[in-house]
Amino acid sequence: MIYLDHNATTIPVPGLSSVVSPYLSSSFGNPSSSNYLAGREAKEAIEKSREQLASLVDCSPEEIIFTSGGTEAIYLSFLGLLDRLKEPTAADFTNKIAISRVEHSAVQDAAKYIASLTSGGLASTEITNLEINSDLSIGSLTLDQQKGIKIVASMLANNETGIFHDPSAFLNSLDTINSDYEFLSDPVQTIGKTNFSFSKSRASISFLSAHKFGGPKGIGALLVKKNSKWKPSFVGGGQEQGRRGGTESVPLIVGLGHAAVNAKKSLADGYEEEIKILRDKFEETLLSEIKNIEIVGQGKKRLPNTSCFLTSGVIGGEVSKAISLKDICISSGSACSSGSINPSKVLVALGYSTTKAISALRVSFGHGNTLEEIPIVVKELKNIVSEMRLKNESKLSKLMS
Ligand code: PLP
Repeated sequence: MIYLDHNATTIPVPGLSSVVSPYLSSSFGNPSSSNYLAGREAKEAIEKSREQLASLVDCSPEEIIFTSGGTEAIYLSFLGLLDRLKEPTAADFTNKIAISRVEHSAVQDAAKYIASLTSGGLASTEITNLEINSDLSIGSLTLDQQKGIKIVASMLANNETGIFHDPSAFLNSLDTINSDYEFLSDPVQTIGKTNFSFSKSRASISFLSAHKFGGPKGIGALLVKKNSKWKPSFVGGGQEQGRRGGTESVPLIVGLGHAAVNAKKSLADGYEEEIKILRDKFEETLLSEIKNIEIVGQGKKRLPNTSCFLTSGVIGGEVSKAISLKDICISSGSACSSGSINPSKVLVALGYSTTKAISALRVSFGHGNTLEEIPIVVKELKNIVSEMRLKNESKLSKLMS
C-alpha cells in the first residue's frame, strides 16, 4: 500500500504498541489511587507524558488537559467560555463568536451549538463569519461587527489545503477596539509537521490530537493559558485538576507522550525539510505529467506535507476511489451524501467554483513515504484522469448532440 493520507491519520510511530501494552496488562493502576504503588505509578506515567507533550508544543505542563481527542478539546473549549457569551452587552450590539470560513467542522459545529445555548437568555450570541482575503489571510470586519466579539476561532493550518491563514492583521485591528476576547487557534494539523509553540502563539486556547502525529486515536489535549477566562465544564472525579473529569486513559496518554517525544526528535532532525522535498517533487511531477492541474495555495505558506490540487474534468471522489483499487490512499475534497456531491466548503470559501471544488484531491505525506513512490502515484493518477476526462467529454458531447 502507498499511504498518502497522513492528514486523515498517521502511521503509528515505531514502538507505540510496546510502550502502551504494559498499561493494558500488568500496569493497570488507577492514577487517582495514590495510597499504593500501582496507582502512583500510573499517575507518574501520566505526568511524564504531560511533560513530554509540553516539550513538543512549548507550553507549561499545567496548561495541558488530556481529552479524548481534538473534537472533544474543541467542544470543551467553547463550553468553558459559555459564561462569557452570556455577559450582558450594550443595547446596540450582541455577543459574537467570530469564526473563519475555513475552520474544521468540529470547530464550526461546536461554535454553532454553544451559541444556541445562549438564545432566550439576557444576551444571545451571533456567529460572525470571517472571510478569506485574496492573499489568503483572514479578512477584516467593520467596526460594528467587531463590537461584542467574545471568541475568535481561526485555525493555524488547514487540514484540506495545508494553507496557513494569517489572522494577525484581523487581530491587530480587533485589539484596537476590543481586547476582551479569547482567541482559539486550532493547530491539530500543524503539530508534528512543523514546530509549534503554544507559549509564543497569540491564542489563549488550542487543541491537539495524538493520531495526527503518530500517536493512538482517542486521545488529545486542550491547551489553556493561565490568563484565559475559560472555566471547566466537564466535571466529576476531580481529574486533570478538576478541569476534565473521568478516570484517565493511561495507555493512550502514555502513547501520546511517546509520539510527542518522537515528533520532537524528528523535527529536530529535519523532518519538515525532508517531507517538503517529497511534496514539492510530487507537485512538480504532477504538473509536468497531467494538463490542467491547479495546486491550491502554491507559493503561499503551507504545511510541508500537504498538496491539494484541482484537476479539470474529473470528480475528486471518483479519482480517489479508482486509485484505491491500485492500493494507493489519497483523499478527495468533496463529500458524497445521499447520491449528491457536496463541494468542499473550504475551497468554496477560497473562491473556487463548485465544479473546481468537486475536482479536489489531497495528497498528504508523512513518515515512511519515499521519492520512489511519486512516479508510481502520478502514473496511476494520469491514467485514471485521462480515462475519466475522456468519458466525461463523450457524455457531454452526447448531451449536446
Ligand atoms: N481540527 C482539525 C484541523 C482536524 O484536521 C481534525 C481532524 O481531522 C480535528 C480538529 C478533529 O480531531 P479528532 O478527529 O482527532 O477529534
